[in-house]
Amino acid sequence: MLTTEVADRVHRLERAYVNCYVVADDDGRVLLVDAGLPGMWPLMGFALRELGHRPEDVAGLVLTHAHFDHVGFAARLQERVGVDVWAHEADHWLAAHPYRYAHENLRAAYPFRHPASLRILAAMARAGALKVRGVRDLRPLEDGEVLELPGRPRIVFTPGHTYGHVALHLPERDAVLTGDALVTLDPYTGLDGPQIIAGAATADSELAMHSLDRLVETGADLVLPGHGEPWTGGVVAAVTEARAIGAH
Ligand SMILES: [Zn+2]
Ligand SMILES: [Zn+2]
Repeated sequence: MLTTEVADRVHRLERAYVNCYVVADDDGRVLLVDAGLPGMWPLMGFALRELGHRPEDVAGLVLTHAHFDHVGFAARLQERVGVDVWAHEADHWLAAHPYRYAHENLRAAYPFRHPASLRILAAMARAGALKVRGVRDLRPLEDGEVLELPGRPRIVFTPGHTYGHVALHLPERDAVLTGDALVTLDPYTGLDGPQIIAGAATADSELAMHSLDRLVETGADLVLPGHGEPWTGGVVAAVTEARAIGAH
């Protein structure tokens, strides 16, 4: 199988240290959370087939945020399959221009300070990280809203990594999809464990630290991040570890 079932009817597809999730419902429809890198497009097609779905079963794509490694195949899915794409309004411009993101520290210096990140960034490049097309005509997301999509995700506004970052709480599955608000692997440093992403790719680290409170409120048992392995020790413990590491 290309995917791993990480929670009840929630499947993880990982390539080049980037995660996408397929959230299935009993009515045969699926929700996709994040669109990875362009190279994940054929893989997602195969993965859906393995799970017994056709492209028409995709009821929607929700972007946790509009960085290039989450927007990957969004434009293709929208054009070829006619799937609606949601993102918080504060990230809509970024979604159309996925390389124009704000960050605190000089990105280019990171691989030299953190050599472990080189293999990660090289793998991301091979999966098309430098060739992501922007996506337009997005639908907006509001903090606290519950989407009538598979898994009935509740939107948790968690700005900082980007100004429009959201997490998705799936109360019925006891899981929270944290995107890059809380990861268990930072691709820019190569460091493992629950943490916010380094200033190399984060717009406002202080705001990102504040948004961890919003994740705690979900009380979810399972944390499913945009990068790294699932964290099964509960969101409270994950946030405690992230706070100990702090902004970096
Ligand atoms: Zn990101
Ligand atoms: Zn990312």
